[in-house]
Amino acid sequence: MAPKVKTTLSGIGVGETSAWGKAFVFSPRPKAPAESKSTLGVEVERARLIASISKVSTSLGVTAGQADETTSEIINALLSLVQDPALVEEAEAHLVDGWNAETSVLRAMKSFTELLQGDDLFAERIADLQDLALRIVASLSGQEIAIAIPKIGPIVVVAEDLSPADTALFTNAVVGVVTSGGGPTSHTAIICRQRNIPAVVAVTNAITSIVPGEGLLVDAFRGEVSFSETQLDTSHSSSRNRTGLPISEVKGNVGSVDDARILASTEASGIGLMRTELLFLSRSTAPSLDEQTDLYAQILEIAPKGEVIFRTLDAGSDKPLPYLGIVKEENPSLGVRGFRINSVDSEILETQLSALFAAEKRTGRKISVMAPMIATVEEAIEFTTLARKHGLSSVGIMVETPSICALLSQLEGIVDFISVGTNDLSQYLFAADRQNSRVAHLLNPWQPGLLKVLSNLCIDASLAGIKVGVCGEAAADPLLAVVLAGLGVKSLSMAAPAVSRANDYLSSINMERAIEVASAALRGKTPQEARELALASLG
Ligand code: PEP
Ligand code: MG
Repeated sequence: MAPKVKTTLSGIGVGETSAWGKAFVFSPRPKAPAESKSTLGVEVERARLIASISKVSTSLGVTAGQADETTSEIINALLSLVQDPALVEEAEAHLVDGWNAETSVLRAMKSFTELLQGDDLFAERIADLQDLALRIVASLSGQEIAIAIPKIGPIVVVAEDLSPADTALFTNAVVGVVTSGGGPTSHTAIICRQRNIPAVVAVTNAITSIVPGEGLLVDAFRGEVSFSETQLDTSHSSSRNRTGLPISEVKGNVGSVDDARILASTEASGIGLMRTELLFLSRSTAPSLDEQTDLYAQILEIAPKGEVIFRTLDAGSDKPLPYLGIVKEENPSLGVRGFRINSVDSEILETQLSALFAAEKRTGRKISVMAPMIATVEEAIEFTTLARKHGLSSVGIMVETPSICALLSQLEGIVDFISVGTNDLSQYLFAADRQNSRVAHLLNPWQPGLLKVLSNLCIDASLAGIKVGVCGEAAADPLLAVVLAGLGVKSLSMAAPAVSRANDYLSSINMERAIEVASAALRGKTPQEARELALASLG
C-alpha cells in the first residue's frame, strides 16, 4: 500500500523565501503545579523565592545581552517586571499564610493579572506575566525554561507561538518557523522578517499534524507548509525591464541605529519608516530633547542614500507608555493612540519635532516627517502646520484609517506625501484586531477589499499631486510590491531582508506590465485568487 501523503498546511506567510529543514517541535510550557502548603517554613520559602527570581533575572539579562536591539528592548521590559519589588511584596502574604514559594508566586502573579484582565492595553503584559511565573516556578524545581535549539540544522521550529525570549535563542541552524498562533504583524512575524527567516504563522493544525524530525518545506511566499523528505526548488522567475531600474523606490523600515546600519548594507534607497517609539518604550519618563537629537542624528548619518522619513511617536494601543497619562480605555486601539496623544500631551510632539529639526541642522541631511493615525483633514492640517512651524519642510501623514482614504483629494496642498500603513489600515478596514490570530485571514494583504481601497487611494492622490508610499508589511511581499507599483505607489518600504528581492522584482518588469499585473490582481474575489491572477499575469 502506498504511504499516506500528508496534505499541505496553510497559514499566513511571513517573508518571501522558502526553506527546507527537519521539524523541531517546541514543547509547550510546563503546567503550573497544584497549590501546596510549605513543609519548610516561611524563611526557607522566602529565600527559595528570592533566589529563583534572581536566577530568572540573570538568565533573561544574559539572553537580552545576546539578542538584537529590538528583542533586547522587549526582554528588558520583562526583566523590569520580574525585578519589581511589588512581586515579592505580593507573594509575602501567601508565604506568611503557609503556602510554599511556588504557590505564593503563582498567587501573586494571579492577582497582578486579574488587575489587568479585560484591558486590551495590557493583553500582552498578561501573557508576559504568565510566562514569567512559569519561569520562576520551573527555576524553583531546578529547571530552566530555555530551549536547547540544535546548533546543527537545517531545522524548522514548530510552536504554538514564540515569545521574544524564545526567538532570541535561535541558533544559525533555524531556517524556518511554523506557528499555530500569531498573525502577520505579531512579534514572531516581525522578528522572523527582521532576521530573514521564512515563517508561516496561524497554521491551525501545526502542532497536531507535524511530527518532530520530519522534513518540512516552509514556503513563506505561498503561506504553505508541505511535508517533504527532500529539498525542492521553489524559485520564481521573471523577465528584466529595459532600464534595470526599479519602477518604485525601495526603502527600508527601521526602529533603531542598529537597524539603520543593517539597512545601509542593502540596496535600499533611504528609510521609508523610522519607528521612533522604540526610544520611548521601557522607560519611566520621556527621552529629553538632547537624547532624541543625538539618536536622530546618528540615524541620519548611517542611513542609506535617499529620503529618510521619521514617524512621530506612535504610542498607545499595543505600545502603552505609562508616563503618557492615557486613562484606561475599553478599546485602546480605537482610543488615544498615535497623533491623538497630542490632545492629552502636546509637549511630547513639540519636543520630538524640535529634536528632528536639530538633527537635520546638525547633520545637514534633510528629514521627512509624518504622523501616525491621522483620521481627519483637521488633524492633517494641525500636524503639518506644527511640523512646518518647527522648521521641517517635507511633511506627510500615514494613511491608516479608512476615513482619511476617503479624503485624499482634500489634502491637496496640505501634505507633501502619504505613507500607507497597511497593517493598521487592514485592522480598521476589516474590523479585525491585528493581535488576534483568529481573524488573521482578514489581515491578508491580498484581500480584495484592501487592494480596491489602495487602487482608489492612488487615483485620488495622483489627482491631488500627492506622492504615495506604502510602509506596512504588505510592501515586503515582492509580487504584491509589483501590484502596488502598478496601482501607482511610488515608494515601498520594508524590513531590510526584503529589500533585495523587492528590488529584483521591481527592476525586472516595466510599468506597463506592472499595471497589467495590478489589474489582474484587482479581478480576484478572494486573496488567493487575487494572488494567483497576479502570478499568472506576471508569467
Ligand atoms: C502600519 O500600521 O502598517 C505601520 C507601518 O505601522 P506599525 O506597524 O508600526 O503600526
Ligand atoms: Mg501603524
